Amino acid sequence: ISYTDGRGWHDAVVTPYAPIELDPSAMVLHYGQAIFEGLKAYRQPDGSIGTFRIEANAERLRTSARRLAMPELPTELFVESVNQLIRADEAWVPDAGGEDALYLRPFLFATEPGLGVRPAAEYRYLLIASPAGAYFPRGVKPVSVWLSEEYVRAAPGGTGAAKFAGNYAASLLAQAQAADQGCDQVVWLDATERTYVEEMGGMNLFFVFGTGPDARLVTPSLSGSLLPGITRDSLLTLAGDAGLPVEERRISTAEWRTAAESGELSEVFACGTAAVITPVGSVKSTAGEFVIGDGEPGEVTMALRDTLTGIQRGTFADTHGWMSPLG
Ligand code: PMP
Repeated sequence: ISYTDGRGWHDAVVTPYAPIELDPSAMVLHYGQAIFEGLKAYRQPDGSIGTFRIEANAERLRTSARRLAMPELPTELFVESVNQLIRADEAWVPDAGGEDALYLRPFLFATEPGLGVRPAAEYRYLLIASPAGAYFPRGVKPVSVWLSEEYVRAAPGGTGAAKFAGNYAASLLAQAQAADQGCDQVVWLDATERTYVEEMGGMNLFFVFGTGPDARLVTPSLSGSLLPGITRDSLLTLAGDAGLPVEERRISTAEWRTAAESGELSEVFACGTAAVITPVGSVKSTAGEFVIGDGEPGEVTMALRDTLTGIQRGTFADTHGWMSPLG
């Protein structure tokens, strides 16, 4: 779908996947106005197809657009575009019963040619789809993380709460640093004090203190510089359903380490659309390394994972009305 100032959204079309033409001075290439979303379509046991919290993705794209001075795509257009693409690619939606799904990537970028720095007057909204296999083909395994003290992902007043392409570009060097340290993922800290935990790679973080009936969850509050994940929000609700107390607050790396070493912290996991829930097994920084729990995925982590994937795959009751059938 194209957008032109004064004319609005126009020329929606579904076409076979192919390269697109872009003017060399298209403003996205110079000033980076580019935002995106990520969501999945799941085959249900009766053969139908459902999407998970699609309106929340539509709403987040609009929030990202406002932050980047871009036009907001109306929610109905977003939902219709996703549904049309799924219908066109229906054969690519994997069968029910497995871990696979169809991943959808809606994105919006500035196409207007021009070298002056200002919000563009022309944009394109595109949507591509790709089958996504199990994130963990050999079962869920805890990841190791590197605390990024040198680089930050987002600063107060910046673009961290938007799903903005530049946030990911800025994160690549820290990811490489994490890999050099032998870690799977990078954990971001707050930009001001480099003390408080924000998020992990493309996922939000949860901490489980205590075990059994004493278990309680802590997740970093939405500081303005971390992405409000839809999985994070869903898990806050599901934890409430399960009677698990949840605190949204700041959590420091010192608290993380002390609680892990005393055994009070029993589990840590990260969550997002791609991997759903990933346990975190060990943490490394310039101050050394520590482990969480016994190196196996924890009970709370796996129970929340089963509930969420059950709802998405139609094997658990969708009591919050999160699933939408293809309209
Ligand atoms: N943080 C970042 C930086 C991300 O890219 C993502 C993935 N969209 C998330 C968190 C998790 O968000 P969601 O649960 O909506 O996929």
